[in-house]
Amino acid sequence: DRPDIASPVRTRAIMETYGLNFKKSLGQNFLTDVNILKKIVDAAGVDENDDVLEIGPGIGALTEQIAKRAHNVLALELDDRLIPVLAETLEPYDNIQVVKQDVLKADLKQLLSKHFDGQHHVKVVANLPYYITSPIIIHLLETGLSFDSIVVMMQKEVAERLGAHSGTKAYGSLSIRVQYQMNVKVAFIVPKTVFVPQPKVDSAIVILSPKEILALPKDEQFFFKVVKGCFQHRRKTIWNNLQSFLGKKKVNKEKLQQMLLELDVSPKTRAENLSIDEFVQLANKIIELKI
Ligand code: SAM
Repeated sequence: DRPDIASPVRTRAIMETYGLNFKKSLGQNFLTDVNILKKIVDAAGVDENDDVLEIGPGIGALTEQIAKRAHNVLALELDDRLIPVLAETLEPYDNIQVVKQDVLKADLKQLLSKHFDGQHHVKVVANLPYYITSPIIIHLLETGLSFDSIVVMMQKEVAERLGAHSGTKAYGSLSIRVQYQMNVKVAFIVPKTVFVPQPKVDSAIVILSPKEILALPKDEQFFFKVVKGCFQHRRKTIWNNLQSFLGKKKVNKEKLQQMLLELDVSPKTRAENLSIDEFVQLANKIIELKI
């Protein structure tokens, strides 16, 4: 019986055997605490009814813990040095497929239909490479796939932004992009000391689960653009940000004024005070009034 991949002794042995160093540029901070890995899989509620997509398996520490409970696991790893390592470390498991792939370039719909049978719930479980946390989450949300849940580790500060409510400093276009379609819950905090090498900051496990979208934008992509435009300069008013977003000269100031009046939004307010619903109404009105 070999010890868990995640155990510090085994991790060190694997790195030495393969002469591997950690690539900072790929966000390689490996978890070496089996209990925390189990807690992540617990938080995702993974069982034999689930097929799990993992992003960035590293040397397989989390992959192994997922595979012990899931039906099938598909793990996408960008670093080709790790592919032969994973073939060896995950050799005892017949329900894991590792694919060398940049997740941001992956056609996830196609990959999942190739590797999963469509008869199981699909979950995402991952310890994300931190340099691309937001792009990965947005990529996952844009696939049009209905994940049962997305349970991912990220920097604590990014987790706070994801879950932030209006009126707070952390609330911004990322909070809105995610909360528009997902419920966000921070499951627990993970201290930086359980990683090798140690990152500079603590991490958090975030649970994203799909929610019913109540206020529907007429045009989703335009809605996201309006949100970004309104947050362009956080400290400026919605009036100023909207003017530069819509292009100063072209904007009919009266129409803009009328719109904000109809929406009962003060021109002097700032984007951080608007709810997702209000942004949806705002984007819809811009389209409706052809501003
Ligand atoms: N799952 C392992 C663990 O928990 O110890 C490793 C997690 S480590 C934080 C992130 C992993 O993502 C690394 O293995 C890294 O090589 C991989 N990675 C980085 N960029 C990637 C990308 N664009 N697509 C797929 N994997 C990527």
